[in-house]
Amino acid sequence: MEPRVSKVKCDQFLNLKLLLLASHEVNVSLVEADATIYLNFMKSHSCYDAIPISCKLVIFDTTLQVKKAFFALVANGLRAAPLWDSKLQRFVGMLTITDFINILHCYYKSPLVQMYGLESHKIETWRDVYLRNPSHYLISISPEASLFDAIYSLLRYRIHRLPVIDPESGNVLHILTHKRILKFLHIFVSKPAFIQKQIQELGIGTFRNIATIQQTASLYDALSIFVERRVSALPVVDEQGKVVALYSRFDVINLAAQKTYNDLDITMQDAIRRRKCCVEGVITCFPEDTLEVIIDRIVEAEVHRLVLVDRADVVKGIISLSDLLQALVLTPVGIDALLS
Ligand code: ADP
Ligand code: ADP
Ligand code: AMP
Repeated sequence: MEPRVSKVKCDQFLNLKLLLLASHEVNVSLVEADATIYLNFMKSHSCYDAIPISCKLVIFDTTLQVKKAFFALVANGLRAAPLWDSKLQRFVGMLTITDFINILHCYYKSPLVQMYGLESHKIETWRDVYLRNPSHYLISISPEASLFDAIYSLLRYRIHRLPVIDPESGNVLHILTHKRILKFLHIFVSKPAFIQKQIQELGIGTFRNIATIQQTASLYDALSIFVERRVSALPVVDEQGKVVALYSRFDVINLAAQKTYNDLDITMQDAIRRRKCCVEGVITCFPEDTLEVIIDRIVEAEVHRLVLVDRADVVKGIISLSDLLQALVLTPVGIDALLS
């Protein structure tokens, strides 16, 4: 009897083990499928899929005066424009708010001194001064390319505007941004299980050496940080390090809109008070918030980043759309650290 019983037990264990092994494989493949759900979606959809049916697009000839170009961006409610060189008969670059910041930072002396550089430069002459590297070129993408490729370009080159150019006509069809891509992903991809994890557990974002600005510092100081650190926004903090506002590169366009760029000595407090059309308060998150909460919040608020704070509102990190796209789409395929 003994051996038979033990044989039965043995068979039962074998069956159980096989069952466990099978369910383990199912779990592993589920986990793998879970981690690559966004990646697969981005690989199987083209840039064309993410382009709206109609949108406003303004193109600047490089012979246009830089000042007029920034006023034209404001007048059209746009953040960027492709640059057309009529001598070369091709697009040669982009003009963005970062370029406005670079010009102001380069030529500003004091409220009493006129910025001749801003008054006199054409886009092409400014680019000759600023882009000392002659191989500087336009980074663009074809409508047929995958959204994965678009994300790769945005993060690899650390840009926020990616023109989609039809290779046949040479026309710019749209300017893709992180916001547009994340919104597309948010609408069309069903939520994988791992987004229930806390952001501190997943480690998505920047948590060290956060660039902030004191509310008593000058606006020119903020521009200097934008230029030197190349960050897209600064949490504005009080003496205790508590976040009281957020000032992004986008907000600098207010200076063109209000023609107040001649005085960059004003405090950040004043700059924040004077800006128009900004988001109310600071959109923040806590380390314990889940990835789902963070994605929902950032998409709903239509902002480029959340400020990670502790319970006393002290700044602890930044979770930007770049960090989310890196973690959701590039990291699963082994492409790491494009942002470092
Ligand atoms: P912003 O955040 O101000 O909209 P970006 O971060 O995209 O601007 O721009 C940073 C710099 O890179 C600017 O000097 C801009 O002109 C340049 N740039 C932006 N997009 C492109 C592109 N697609 N190709 C080449 N240069 C670009
Ligand atoms: P862009 O669309 O050019 O990337 P941003 O999202 O950086 O622009 O900024 C758009 C507006 O939203 C700006 O007025 C900026 O100050 C505001 N904003 C961006 N992020 C936050 C945030 N986390 N909290 C509050 N306001 C924000
Ligand atoms: P962005 O330019 O916002 O797309 O972000 C590019 C990288 O810079 C991301 O890893 C962000 O977390 C990081 N980053 C954005 N703003 C700041 C900041 N103020 N200080 C430090 N890092 C930042």
